[in-house]
Amino acid sequence: NVVFVTGGNGFVGSATVLELIKRGYKVKGSIRSQAKADAFNKMYPTESKSIERVVVPDLMDEQRMTSALSGVDYVIHMASPFHMNFTNNVEEMLKPARELTLYSRIKRVVLTSSFVAVWDLMKGNGLWPEHTYTAEDWNPATWEQAAGAAHPLFVYSASKSLAEKAAFDFVEKEKPGFSITTFCPPFIWGPPGQPDLTLGNLNTSTWVLWWTLSGQAKEIDETGLPVFVDVRDLAYLQVAALTNDKAKNQRYLAISDEWYMEQLVNIVKEEFPHQAYRLPPTVRTRGPDHFGYDVAKTERVFDIELIPLRKTVVETMKFLFDKESVE
Ligand code: NDP
Repeated sequence: NVVFVTGGNGFVGSATVLELIKRGYKVKGSIRSQAKADAFNKMYPTESKSIERVVVPDLMDEQRMTSALSGVDYVIHMASPFHMNFTNNVEEMLKPARELTLYSRIKRVVLTSSFVAVWDLMKGNGLWPEHTYTAEDWNPATWEQAAGAAHPLFVYSASKSLAEKAAFDFVEKEKPGFSITTFCPPFIWGPPGQPDLTLGNLNTSTWVLWWTLSGQAKEIDETGLPVFVDVRDLAYLQVAALTNDKAKNQRYLAISDEWYMEQLVNIVKEEFPHQAYRLPPTVRTRGPDHFGYDVAKTERVFDIELIPLRKTVVETMKFLFDKESVE
């Protein structure tokens, strides 16, 4: 069984590729440059024997994608452009999906969406304390609103929801030979396993944690999105979804636990007392009032007990403090 992955060298991508290999899959990974693949192979010499690389500088290149997808049974699409270009986001999701219809052998496409495709930023900056979010909720922002919006988070959020919605619409309308499963994670943390990682090139969500918990942030930031999931759980879910019949054309929240900034700082002070001197004093003893969330569907379908906050924070920070001591 061959799984085509995009974004396989990133934070979520590396964890997912390693999970695939652990489960016995062969991986065909699209890369933009050979250098990234070389770095991954060096870091994971055993696992890399199960990975075939295909250079696809542009996922919109139909000719390259057509040949890249031959012999593929499943797809996990995790690549995401660095910028917040709305049109590109949609295109990157839709066009590859369309290409996949040519290959009746493909059974399932898994998309890494985001909790920002679920929330409504106009309701208390997304925090909407009266509401309980489920996978039935969709960020209601329209293309027109997003096109004219000045707030980058609004545009980014809309880009994720519209792209995800377009993928579902595509499957419903075109009835291709495959079904899709999407996951909507909020902040993703956990020990980062991507190649060539330094404290200077952390992926965004890991950087947020490091910035606050290494004491670089002079003041504790507001807690903007007070929920998280561990990258190892997301990797497990994305791989399990490939063969789970219940997950056909379904959407799942991937949320483990809630958090707020001062709580993170306190966890580090308790678990790494020798690092406490670097950290700012914590005054607040509770996070912002915020939405509830219901992940019962995710836990039931995938029979998973999600990793709790303290374990994720401790293991991520141990990894980062260790890295700092050798860099
Ligand atoms: P990373 O930045 O670590 O990885 C992104 C990956 O996508 C890299 O492998 C990168 O390739 C690839 N990529 C980016 N742009 C393009 C492009 N235009 N064409 C081809 N490949 C591209 O990010 P994450 O692992 O954090 O994110 C992965 C997915 O998870 C994204 O879809 C993101 O929206 C989603 N997500 C992440 C969250 C988080 O907290 N981290 C939260 C919610 C959703 P290269 O190695 O060549 O640069």
